[in-house]
This record gives sequence, C-alpha cells and structure tokens, in this order.
Amino acid sequence: MHDLTLTQLSAEIAAKRASSVEVVTHFIKRINALNRKYNAYITVDEERSLAQARAADARIAAGAAAPLTGVPIAHKDIFCARGWRTTCGSKMLADFVAPYDAHVIERFNAAGAVIVGKTNMDEFAMGSSSETSHFGPVRNPWNLETVPGGSSGGSAAAVAARLAPAATGTDTGGSIRQPAALAGVSGIKPTYGVVSRYGMIAFASSLDQGGAFARTAEDLALLMNAMAGFDARDSTSLEREPEEYARELGRPLAGLRVGLPAEFFAEGVAPDVARAVEGAVAKFKAMGCEPIEVHLPNMALSVPVYYVLAPAEASSNLARYDGVRYGYRAGGYNDLIDMYKKTRAEGFGAEVKRRILIGTYVLSHGYYDAYYIQAQKVRRLIARDFRDAFTKCDVIMGPTSPTTAFRLGEKAGDPVQMYLSDIFTIAVNLAGLPGMSIPCGFDAKGLPVGLQIIGNYFSEAQMLNVAHHYQQATDWHTRAPSGIDL
Ligand code: GLN
Repeated sequence: MHDLTLTQLSAEIAAKRASSVEVVTHFIKRINALNRKYNAYITVDEERSLAQARAADARIAAGAAAPLTGVPIAHKDIFCARGWRTTCGSKMLADFVAPYDAHVIERFNAAGAVIVGKTNMDEFAMGSSSETSHFGPVRNPWNLETVPGGSSGGSAAAVAARLAPAATGTDTGGSIRQPAALAGVSGIKPTYGVVSRYGMIAFASSLDQGGAFARTAEDLALLMNAMAGFDARDSTSLEREPEEYARELGRPLAGLRVGLPAEFFAEGVAPDVARAVEGAVAKFKAMGCEPIEVHLPNMALSVPVYYVLAPAEASSNLARYDGVRYGYRAGGYNDLIDMYKKTRAEGFGAEVKRRILIGTYVLSHGYYDAYYIQAQKVRRLIARDFRDAFTKCDVIMGPTSPTTAFRLGEKAGDPVQMYLSDIFTIAVNLAGLPGMSIPCGFDAKGLPVGLQIIGNYFSEAQMLNVAHHYQQATDWHTRAPSGIDL
C-alpha cells in the first residue's frame, strides 16, 4: 500500500478498495516501527489522525469525496495545526500547541485529507541538513550516515521512506528543492504568493513559500490544487483565479526551449551530479526540447544577498519569542529584561542565534544602507537576470544541489559550507519564481541526484508537465531506498 503514489492511493480510497482508516493505520504502523531509524517525524497523534480518517470514510460513504479525501499527508512542523503540537524544530516551541490552523492546513482539512504527523526540520527552517532540530537530526533513508537535506528534511525523508505518500514543506532559499534532491523525491516551491503564509511560522517573510513533496509530478499537481489559493489573512497572498494544476499534464514538449544557465554548469558541481543532470537534459532533447544557453550573471551574488536579507527578516520575525506570549520561558530570572535574555539564550539554538545577530547587525543604524539596502538592489538585479533569460527560454534547468547527500556532521561546524548547499536554489526565492526538483539519477555511492526545473512566474502547470514527461520516460522517481520494509 505504501508503494502506491498519492494519485494511486486516492483512487484506491475513492473506489472504496481501501478505507481511509485502513490506509492511515498502515502508515502509522510504519511510522511507529521505522521512525526511530529516520527521525523524520517530531509528532504523531494516532487518535487525531484516525478521527480524521473516520470522518473521511463517512464523507466517502455519503458520496461527497474530493480528490484527496482520506489520504494521509505529513506536514512540516512549521505549519500550525489546531490541537497539534507545532514546534518548528525548536526548544522555544517544544510544548506549543497551535490554537488555530494555517491556511494550508485548512485547505487540506477541507479536502478531507488526514494529517498523519508533523515532520522534523531545521530549527525555524534555518539550515540545509535538518541537523539543527531540537529533536535531533533527520537521517537520509538512502544512507543513514548522511543528511536528507534541509530544512524540510523530515518531510523529504518521510516521503522517501514511504512513511507518507506526500508531505508539505516550506522553501525560503531551497528548503523544499534541496531535500527533495538529496532524498530522491519530487518537490515543488510555487511562485511567491501562490500559497498563503498564514499560520506558517515566519522565517524570512519576503522569501518563505509553502509547497510540497511527493514521488511524482502528477501527485504534486494534486497537492497544489489543494494548497494554492487566495487568503486575505496573508497580505502577500495573490488574488488569482483558481487553477487546475494538472491541466497541462501530457501536453507534448516538442519545441519547448530549455534554458541552461552557464553558471549552473560551472565548476563546483560534483562530477556525478553534472553527469546525471546532463543526462536528463539529453533526455529532454530527445523529447523534442531545444536547449538554449542563457546567463544569470548575478547568480554568484545570490548567497551573500540572501544571507543579509533572510537574517534581517528573521531577526524581526523572531522578536516575538520573548517568553511572554507563548512558547518557552526560562526559570530563575531576576527581572523582565533578565527573563527575555535567559529565555532567548536557552530557547534558541546556535544557528538561530547567529542569524538573529547577523540580522540585527545589518539592520542597525550606519549599516542599514551598506548592507540591507545594497542587498535589496542586488536582489532586483538577480530578478532581472531571470526576466531576461525567460525572454529566450520557457523553463530553466540545472542541478538542484552541487552535491549529493553529505555526511551527518560534515558541514555542521562550517556555516558557510552549509550555506553554499543552496547556491543553485536561493536565486529563485530572491526572484519569487517557482522551482521544482525531481530525481534524475544516482551518484557512484547510490545517492540520489536532483534536477532543478525553474519556471517563469505562475508557470507551475507547465513545469509539472515538463517533470511529468520526464517521469513517463524514466524510472528514477520510482526507486526506493533499501531498509524501508517493516
Ligand atoms: N538553507 C537556507 C537557510 O538556511 C534555506 C532554508 C530554507 O529554505 N528555509 O536559510
């Protein structure tokens, strides 16, 4: 049952060949048996999940099912879900039970999907390895000594290990695409503003975007249909006509212009990664696509620009964790200021503190113009590079990550090395564009390689079709890591 894709599982449930209760019970059994190996989930709540499953079965019996009714979906522990502990991977929120649902959760609930658990992640979504979680590191199902990428590593690992057919994630600088690549699953980060950030714990608000993981592009289209849509409670949510994200699936690719940025195929990419990505490009060529060289001259500035802007926004967003309103409060303080200091010193981990310090610094008087304003200007140049490239091509392709999964601890002591994991993903967030990662091969050690597909604004349906064609012609996305059997 866990080998079925989300689409197949939905069909099984809709045709009453399996009940939601049976399916959810099956996945919870797997999580209970295997999660200690991967640490992909922070919280499971069997009773809550089964209550939703029973409601889904009643809805199906009444003939009122929607496409996702009854299917289990894992949610990154950054999405508030009413009654569920919602930790964001932090000690600061280790005991926080969300009093309301994020828009994304509301949407899945309205579709009748079942929350099967909350997935592990880097603390406050800051990281590329899922090692900074207060709840311990996530392990990559393809090799337990390696990381699954981050920050949505728990969601990626859960889908890879068949502990959920699909999962949500968030992507501020690569946190859906990079773990999708390292864990060998498919992931999509939509255009900024397509998925509401309401109830999604804020990291860097101008960059954060919700999205999803599954095993196929077809599954991602189903998830997008549920997640996307206007929400007045997020001031950056876009008011657009609802879309059917599967509408282009199957449309021929002949004549599609595939932009290959020279900057994505430069040195610094591991040879096995380059080989797999070039193989994928050759496949698209064989399908009638036209490769075109494009340039993103300011790409190299995306990591430094991001590490000014994202910490600046984070330092402001994380000011709310003051020990007063919710979350952790230190004991044994002398006065209010001492309470603030001890709470934040004890509640946040090292990487979060580093970001708050950097962010506070770049926003401070005298440095604001030199760093923050300057970074905003370069951000605009990076967006302009993409705009120019998209006058010559329809989609852009390249590696998602310069390497495959690295060893646990390998980059934990060197933040800059860790930051460079996102060298190919960050520019997409700075420009607000949609991006995907799909499996396109393996390295010599048997670790998965991800192909990144970047589209123009609102071209998700087209990108999903591009990915779907590739998945019809290849079987990388069907491979499963060993050791996932009970
Ligand atoms: N790895 C990047 C960071 O640490 C991106 C994280 C994300 O996309 N949430 O900020």
